[in-house]
Formats: sequence, C-alpha cells, structure tokens
Amino acid sequence: MTHDVIVVGGGPGGSTAAWQLARTGARVLVLDALVFPRVKVCAGWVTPAALADVEVDPAKYPLTIQPFTRCTLGFEGARHVTRWRRPASYGILRREFDHFLLERAAATGADVRWGLRVTGVDVAADAVCVTTESGDFDAAVVIGAGGHRCPIARALGDVQQREEVVAAQESETELSSERAATLGAFMDAPELFLEPDLRGYGWFFPKGDWINIGIGCTGAADGSLPRRRDRLVAALRANGRLPADLALAPFKGHAYVVRRQAPRRLTGPRFCLVGDAAGLAADLSGEGIGPAIKTGRLAADAVLGWLRRGAPLDAYAREVTRLYGSGEPGWLGRQVARVPDAVARSVVRFVLGSAPARRRIVFDSIFGMKETAA
Ligand SMILES: Cc1cc2nc3c(=O)[nH]c(=O)nc-3n(C[C@H](O)[C@H](O)[C@H](O)COP(=O)(O)OP(=O)(O)OC[C@H]3O[C@@H](n4cnc5c(N)ncnc54)[C@H](O)[C@@H]3O)c2cc1C
Repeated sequence: MTHDVIVVGGGPGGSTAAWQLARTGARVLVLDALVFPRVKVCAGWVTPAALADVEVDPAKYPLTIQPFTRCTLGFEGARHVTRWRRPASYGILRREFDHFLLERAAATGADVRWGLRVTGVDVAADAVCVTTESGDFDAAVVIGAGGHRCPIARALGDVQQREEVVAAQESETELSSERAATLGAFMDAPELFLEPDLRGYGWFFPKGDWINIGIGCTGAADGSLPRRRDRLVAALRANGRLPADLALAPFKGHAYVVRRQAPRRLTGPRFCLVGDAAGLAADLSGEGIGPAIKTGRLAADAVLGWLRRGAPLDAYAREVTRLYGSGEPGWLGRQVARVPDAVARSVVRFVLGSAPARRRIVFDSIFGMKETAA
C-alpha cells in the first residue's frame, strides 16, 4: 500500500482532513472528480469560527474575501438591519477558496489527484480498495468527503430515502468595477429574505466585485423553487440592489442534506464520512462549510488515532453527534414542528422585530454570525 488514507472529495471537508493528516506525516491521497479550480454552487458565506478552524487569517488570505459588519433580514415586506463593530462574517468565492485549501494540503505533502471520479469502494479485513474510472487505489482507511452524492456515503453510510433535502439555486455574477461602484452601500453587506412560509430563504451576497444571488428551501419537490427564485429576483430589482439592465449569470441548482432527520452512518470499519457526505449542514441556516471543515479536522484526528494506537473510529461519530446532534428531532423539535404556520410566523415576526433577540437568536445561534474578538 502506498497510502495510509484515501480522501474522496477535495472540497473544504476533504482538503481539511488531508491537510491535517499530511501535517503529521501520514501518507494521504485525495481523489476529486473535477479539475480545480472548479465551480461549486454556494453563496460563499463563511463564519469567523470556520475560518479559525481551517487556520485562515482573513487579513492574510490572498484571494477574494469580504468582511461583513452589517446584515439585513427581510420578512413580509419589513427590513431589519443588524450591525456589528467588527466583522461577524465573510464572503469568499468557493472556486478560489476550495482551490486554495486543496493546494495547501498538496503543499503539506498530500498526494492530490483531480479529474479522477470514484465509482466504488470495497472494504476488506485488512484494507480498503477505492475504484476510479482510471484504476484502483488501496489504503488502510477511506474518508468520504465527496459532498451530497459522495460515493463512499452511498456505499457505506446507510443513506436513507426519508432524508430531507434542501434544494437551492444560485447565480454568481462578476460586475465591472464601475458597475460595482454604482451599487454603493449595497455592495458592503448581505441581505437575506425569509420565505413567507418559512421553508427557506433567499440571499444577496456581495463579494468584492461579485454578487451571489440565490435561494434554498426544503420541500422543493412541489416544484416551487423557480417561482421563489423569480420572486426574489423581482424583489431585488425593486429595492435597487439589481439594476434592471444588469444581466445575471445563469442560475445553477444543487441539493444537500441538513442535519434534521435520518442520520447517516458516520463511521464503520475503515471509513469515516465528513461534511455534506455525512449530511451535516446546519438545519436552519444551511451553513455547510463550517461543519465540513470541523468534521474534516475531527476525522483526521480519529484516523490518526486509529492508525497509530488502534483507537476505534466510533469516537469520531460520538463527537460529531455531540457537536451537531443526533440528526433525529428530540421532543422539543417534534413539538415545534407541530406549531401552526400562523403562530410560527408571529414568533418569527417578534424575534426579527427585536434587535437583541434578532442578534442573539438569528445571527449568533442560527447563523453563527458573531463579532470577531478585538
Ligand atoms: C446554493 C447553495 C448555497 C450554499 N451556500 C452556503 C454558504 O454560503 N455557506 C455555507 O457554509 N454553506 C453553503 N452551502 C453548503 C455548502 O456548499 C456545503 O455544505 C459544503 O460545500 C460542503 O463541503 P464538503 O467538503 O462536504 O463537500 P463539497 O464542497 O461538495 O465537496 C465535495 C467534493 O467531492 C467531489 N466529488 C463528488 N463526487 C465525487 C466522486 N464520485 N469522485 C471523486 N470526487 C467526487 C466534488 O467534485 C467536490 O469537489 C450552500 C449550498 C448550496 C447548494
């Protein structure tokens, strides 16, 4: 065996795991189906906690990054503005960010091969064999970090039919500097638009001279997503963020699972799942970069413990459950799910209308948008 660990997927979860493993001298191979820098459908909002976990200092990050000290939340026609004294969040371009993290893992010693699609995995008593379109690779253990359609999760993770999928669409458009300047303060801060039925939210996210517009919601099997997207674009045109003559890049769609129900099997003999492969995006905000990075680190620690001391990989699953919950709604979650829509909307109206509640409940707790320490 030429490698100790194979990481399938080079997104934030996979690159973080590979980087951590390579730092300790483990022989790690990363396989990704796409050639980097690759497009990743994502608004590109990252929290200070996620950047700290991946040891990226925003002041020193050499690519597009925009700090935010303000965020506007729209609901039922009202707009609520929250301000912080220091950055509470950042906007990055996923194409750049993911490439940066993967190159960093390669520079640390990971053997990174992109353009290689994994098609299967076979776990034997003494090794795992990962099959790609261009041959097989063996290692002692595999980390599944291939996102929503991760082949390792599909083969080993007991992915269940009843999983609740968030469907999302986004458009990322580069503006000329002159055009960005005409948008003035709109380019300084994001705006979020809560859907009237509380099934998701839309966003306007500026990042340098780029804008990312998108919407994600649950229960999109009813075909409502295009209608919701068109309503969002119309609202943005109406409130001046999107001038009428500004052509948007085409919308692209993607789906992912939030940690709400039907948890996947996170570990087993010779494997761990991280990030979207493990279905770990946050329930209400949809934040998935932070959980991918965090679990990439945890999986690397668990795999090292197993390689060096034979420590069982199950400890990883327990730690993820401690941090992100079991994935099954508890008693309170089941009661909340039964609250009539009209009552839920009143509660949301009240929380959004109170500046301290909005800051504590919506931004701190749900979105992880917290002021960075001075
Ligand atoms: C529209 C939209 C907007 C979002 N906005 C945000 C946001 O603003 N902030 C946030 O925190 N989260 C956001 N998310 C969620 C976030 O994008 C994901 O949770 C995050 O990318 C998960 O990272 P990951 O490393 O687990 O997987 P990914 O980033 O999906 O990486 C998986 C990698 O695996 C590779 N791969 C897949 N299949 C194979 C295969 N068979 N063989 C080899 N390689 C394979 C892929 O090419 C990819 O590079 C958004 C999601 C969507 C859909």
